[in-house]
Amino acid sequence: CGIVAYVGPKDAAPILLEGLQRLEYRGYDSAGVVVSNKGLKLRKVKGRVADLAKAVPAKFKGTLGIGHTRWATHGVPSDENAHPHLSTDGRIAVVHNGIIENADDLRAKLIAEDVVFASETDTEVLAHLIARTVTETDTLEEAVRKALKSIVGTYGIAVVDSERPKEVVVARNGSPIVLGLGEKEMFAASDVAALVRYTRQVVHLEDGELAVLTADGFHTFASGGRETAKEPLTVDWDA
Ligand code: GLU
Repeated sequence: CGIVAYVGPKDAAPILLEGLQRLEYRGYDSAGVVVSNKGLKLRKVKGRVADLAKAVPAKFKGTLGIGHTRWATHGVPSDENAHPHLSTDGRIAVVHNGIIENADDLRAKLIAEDVVFASETDTEVLAHLIARTVTETDTLEEAVRKALKSIVGTYGIAVVDSERPKEVVVARNGSPIVLGLGEKEMFAASDVAALVRYTRQVVHLEDGELAVLTADGFHTFASGGRETAKEPLTVDWDA
């Protein structure tokens, strides 16, 4: 339902929680965050963003992270089914808005290859698919792009890789993703409402596009891998 991502010099968790709070008006049943700091740290709960904030310890440091509010489509509202979802080795974390229509098929194939699932969601297949691909690609962007080729359905996603603690990859197909451009920091969200406190400079992704965010800026790519050129827009908004 709601996605927030941050990479920059600041502590990510408070920014992610504040962004998720701004998306609460859309409705949701659970919430979660991952920050990257010598490995991925995860907290997720069934309930409100305020409950998540209580579950996040004081020492939850990391200057890159992703957050999500979930509106369940596949699997009941529960701590386990809340996003982010991790690959089994804990290397990849994914948050997802939308519905993966061929999730049952993909899940059966992965289980046949001995992947153990930790949730009932359609989303979790993506974490495992990306984790398998990322060991063979030069970039996280390429691994995400390849994994998305096997997906039928709609998605706005944000992905982090513990081995690449300075970048976030986002992608969209039928579910919005907007980038927020800061000073030596970058944001992404499913809705500008989560960004306007931090920046008014935004870039909307098109269906099929991916973006790589670092503290220094962003690059966008078409689904075939070609880099695309995007002009930032300035949003007018009384936050
Ligand atoms: N289909 C996913 C799930 O059920 C994502 C739902 C959403 O958009 O929040 O976990």
